[in-house]
Amino acid sequence: MKVGIIGGGVLGLSLSYFLSRQGITSIVFEGKDRPGGLLDYLQVDGHWIDKYYHCILSSDTDLLALVDAIGLTDRVCFRETKQGFYTRGHLYPMANARDFLLFPPLSPIERFRLGWTILAALRENDWRRLEEVSVEDWLVRLGGRGTFEKLWKPLLNAKFDGSFQDIPATYIWSRLKRTSSTRAAAGQKERMGYFIGSYKVLVDRLTAEIARLGSEVRTGARVRQITIRHGRASGVELDGELVPLDAVIVTTPLPVLAHLIPDPHRELLDLPPTSAYLGVICGLLLLDRPLTPFYTLNIADEGIPLTGLIETTTLIAPEHVGGYHLVYLPKYVTPTNPFTHLDDTALRTLYLSALQQMFPDFREDWVQHLFIFRERFVEPLHLLGKPRPTVPVRSAIPGLYVINNGQIYPELTNCQASVRHALRTLPIVLEDIGAAAADTAVSTRR
Ligand SMILES: Cc1cc2nc3c(=O)[nH]c(=O)nc-3n(C[C@H](O)[C@H](O)[C@H](O)COP(=O)(O)OP(=O)(O)OC[C@H]3O[C@@H](n4cnc5c(N)ncnc54)[C@H](O)[C@@H]3O)c2cc1C
Repeated sequence: MKVGIIGGGVLGLSLSYFLSRQGITSIVFEGKDRPGGLLDYLQVDGHWIDKYYHCILSSDTDLLALVDAIGLTDRVCFRETKQGFYTRGHLYPMANARDFLLFPPLSPIERFRLGWTILAALRENDWRRLEEVSVEDWLVRLGGRGTFEKLWKPLLNAKFDGSFQDIPATYIWSRLKRTSSTRAAAGQKERMGYFIGSYKVLVDRLTAEIARLGSEVRTGARVRQITIRHGRASGVELDGELVPLDAVIVTTPLPVLAHLIPDPHRELLDLPPTSAYLGVICGLLLLDRPLTPFYTLNIADEGIPLTGLIETTTLIAPEHVGGYHLVYLPKYVTPTNPFTHLDDTALRTLYLSALQQMFPDFREDWVQHLFIFRERFVEPLHLLGKPRPTVPVRSAIPGLYVINNGQIYPELTNCQASVRHALRTLPIVLEDIGAAAADTAVSTRR
């Protein structure tokens, strides 16, 4: 029994690792020249640095259990972090209840209503009640128009590229729940974790464990098509190679999957007509000095065309990343955003002028290196009144399974959610594989 897994991101690697532990051999096919997907990394002056900012929360229990199982607990370091807000040309700390109660852009009544909104979100345990309500209606109902216009609206605009009108209230509910899970109790400090040596540490160890358990991660192995024989998924086609398999699991987003299934079988999958995904364009600046005390600086200011500013070296000890101070400047984008047409020179100018605007003392010669990264498929969008960007795990084509991040809902997509999704969905594959193995055993006995 050999299972093929398309995509060597954290989801594909976790699936392969868990399957291998059950004694089932798998091959992960990763199109790029190394595994990791969005957990990719780069090397600067001999130090490995995450391409995108990634933090671990203490509530990421499935991820941390996996980290423990592969012997990496001592490579994760947890530290206290802080959040801030940038709005109307000013920076405000948002580290504790006091900061919150004194948040100057809001009137006293608006602050009270903001506190009430957060409390209501944290006490809501039935997310299905929020599924058909727009995030705007829900936030205005709880917190009032003033709080929405001054705080939530610029944040939502920044996150959803100006189109949050069709976003359900489940988004903000999940986000507030996840953010609050960094604190064990009200008033307690926010703590986050990181891998000493970047996520390369996790990707390399998972890959090594998969090999140790008898499975394989093949890189530079872009799948061009899934082979369907006698109505069943029976292998994958790479450039110039056919690999026979007993089952195929696809972890890529649905728009990628659609290209992998030959006609006329594609129709059987009943794919939603469109699946909207946010992409990201992210600047990474290596500075010679710190810029802010905040891990996340939420940008709620329409004059700054960025989703946020994440200074990961407020968490990561700078000596773990060559003494640099790492500042990420993400902008989440839909495919039609004019931002997607900007070349690196234009983006560099934009980043430097945004920093100049936010920090009048900032000087370009603080920047030692500047990198720009782009991803087309980062976050699946679940929109009100639209088909979900998802299909069932057990597809209509026998032997073909879809396990991807479009199925992660209402949780936000992140590494914890990916590992949990792998654990939750594998029993479906294992049940079928067990049945197939039993069938084979019966037919061999005959
Ligand atoms: C800017 C940013 C910040 C983030 N911050 C955090 C954070 O703080 N904490 C957190 O937990 N998560 C964070 N995330 C989210 C996290 O990175 C993702 O949820 C997770 O990595 C997704 O894993 P995946 O395996 O589903 O997808 P991916 O990582 O996208 O993997 C899919 C893989 O499939 C491969 N592939 C595609 N087509 C083919 C093909 N035809 N053949 C073979 N291979 C193919 C791709 O090359 C890719 O490697 C962040 C993401 C971004 C972009």
